[in-house]
Amino acid sequence: MDKFEAKLKEVIEMSEEDRNQTIKDLKDMCICGTCSTYNECSKNALEGLYCVLGKSQECITEFKGCECPNCELAQSLDVGKIFNIYCLKGNEMEQREKLHDLDVITGGE
Ligand code: SF4
Ligand code: SF4
Repeated sequence: MDKFEAKLKEVIEMSEEDRNQTIKDLKDMCICGTCSTYNECSKNALEGLYCVLGKSQECITEFKGCECPNCELAQSLDVGKIFNIYCLKGNEMEQREKLHDLDVITGGE
């Protein structure tokens, strides 16, 4: 289990109250707000932390760059470089799963 999976497991196993607080704290560390892809709609919907929470519900439709590789939270969990653009492509685990499925189909080539 890598750092990201361990963090995810820790959050999932928390009480609902602790989980909500932790997600809020992690959202505060998210730098999506500095990204050109992030927009007024996502801001109003208090979106963020897409690497964990998954795609933007209906706000983000156009890609204009991604700051995830520069995110300290991502760097501390060793994510954001291989997979990113989480607001449009889905969270870290979804993107890993998709790659895994592709590997199964192509034999890893
Ligand atoms: S990796 Fe991207 S989505 Fe995740 S917290 Fe950092 S800026 Fe936000
Ligand atoms: S996930 Fe990446 S592309 Fe999307 S808003 Fe955050 S920094 Fe920008």
